[in-house]
Amino acid sequence: MAQIRYDRDADLARIRGKKVAVIGFGSQGHAHALNLMESGVDVRVGLRDGSASRAKAEAAGLRALSIADACAEANVIMVLAPDTKQKAVYEEHVAPALKDGDTLMFAHGFNVRFGQIEPPAGVDVSMVAPKGPGHRVRETFQEGGGVPALVAVHQDASGEADANALSYAAAIGAGRAGILTTTFEEETETDLFGEQAVLCGGVSELVKAGFQTLVDAGYQPEVAYFECLHELKLIVDLMYRGGLGYMRYSISDTAEQGDYVSGPRVVGEASKEAMKAILAEIQDGTFASGWVAEDAAGRPTFTARRAAEQEQPLEDVGRRLRAMMPFVDPVTAEGEAVRPKQRSAPESSGGDAAARAPAE
Ligand code: NAD
Ligand code: MG
Repeated sequence: MAQIRYDRDADLARIRGKKVAVIGFGSQGHAHALNLMESGVDVRVGLRDGSASRAKAEAAGLRALSIADACAEANVIMVLAPDTKQKAVYEEHVAPALKDGDTLMFAHGFNVRFGQIEPPAGVDVSMVAPKGPGHRVRETFQEGGGVPALVAVHQDASGEADANALSYAAAIGAGRAGILTTTFEEETETDLFGEQAVLCGGVSELVKAGFQTLVDAGYQPEVAYFECLHELKLIVDLMYRGGLGYMRYSISDTAEQGDYVSGPRVVGEASKEAMKAILAEIQDGTFASGWVAEDAAGRPTFTARRAAEQEQPLEDVGRRLRAMMPFVDPVTAEGEAVRPKQRSAPESSGGDAAARAPAE
């Protein structure tokens, strides 16, 4: 059984007795810094020169310093710059400020696990990795809840690395939801596998393939969008609340029969073999070295793929349909709010009957 700890197991006084520097003020950085501050922790934010986040951090009541100055002041340094930038940030600004007895922290194990960052022996190296996006780490904390987190210790120079990491995790709200003990290896490898095989890669390709199959067969793209993308959330919400069992309880018996008959045909042996190969390439560092090289080269393939993905019909149809549904809180791919359109002139109509007949 996994070890799961809660607020009652953590000693908040530990982190309140430290000087914490949060490096970066992005998705995770703003949430950690603000939650720590409101938990009574002495926290400062370390930002690049000219960072646009400085004004935001200061307006929120935080002290914002250069990365080097924040690290010099602090004895706990949480690195929340983008994973691909952490090695350079560490070498340039963090490493020179590290003293024996300091604690170096991460929210994802990538750079330590794949040897990009090799901290000196006298410092504690630990991880608090929230299992959710940064804005949820902030919002749930403000609502009195929290996002669960993983804690791990890579290096325990002080003998107190675990207790201190637990205290940090509780101060950002994770002790209200559950703090799971893991290792840098397990966190990094399962996180990469999950996002590649299931959550991001797997689901995106499943949605695209389902949409394309229907459109190629002559069905209306709008119907295909609702069926293969929009409705996914409704199904996932059921799974989130009660597992696959509750989802299957809520859907019709016909849908459940189709689930059993057809699901294993879509995700069959070939997919399971692919998953094993993906996991092996994560474990042996093939994925990591490829990504580090792609980033170092200026991300040519990544950038081209990102642009191409936004051009596909699924995304065009989706943008139009979401603009008619203000209640889904539509945003652009860059995260900007979409202003709802008047619902007066639908571009196409047709109910279920039309949906089921190929459009020829
Ligand atoms: P982000 O891209 O949202 O923000 C990074 C911030 O770092 C920027 O806002 C900026 O303040 C700063 N920054 C950017 N480039 C920099 C540079 N070259 N030098 C110094 N600072 C720079 O990143 P994030 O998603 O918050 O990720 C931070 C860490 O948290 C990563 O290790 C990531 O794996 C981990 N993590 C993220 C999430 C998430 O939901 N986003 C969840 C769990 C763990
Ligand atoms: Mg993840």
